[in-house]
Amino acid sequence: MSHEGIRFVSAEEAKRQDQQKPLPREATEPIKVRIHKTEGTGVEIDWKDGHRSSWSFPWLRNACPCATCHEERENQGRKPGEPKPKPTQLLPMYEAPIRPDTINPIGHYALQFIWNDGHQGGIYSWDYLRMHCQCDECKRVREPEKN
Ligand SMILES: [Zn+2]
Ligand SMILES: [Zn+2]
Repeated sequence: MSHEGIRFVSAEEAKRQDQQKPLPREATEPIKVRIHKTEGTGVEIDWKDGHRSSWSFPWLRNACPCATCHEERENQGRKPGEPKPKPTQLLPMYEAPIRPDTINPIGHYALQFIWNDGHQGGIYSWDYLRMHCQCDECKRVREPEKN
């Protein structure tokens, strides 16, 4: 008798796995990737499963998956894409709207942005992007308590 496939997981791990269900393959395979670099609006992806996602450049910058940004977000309790709290005092400084200077495809699985603030290094995998699809439908599924 084979015990293959039987694995005991702790309640904690089971909960975590439940929150991060692996996405079906068609959900993380883009058919079309549109990067609106000149317009400065963001990225749009049509997925194989018929879904369409889009993300603004500021969202993407604030969701940078690199270790440094990830750690900073964890420390500040921010979700991927959530902007940093702005200092409220003093005169607001003009900041150029965030956008990538360069976008590099990484193999067939990810994009890398080189941002106009000089930051780079975050690898945005299709999985990561799809997992953080910003459409109302996906937001509702991810955060049912907010809707
Ligand atoms: Zn980063
Ligand atoms: Zn969606």
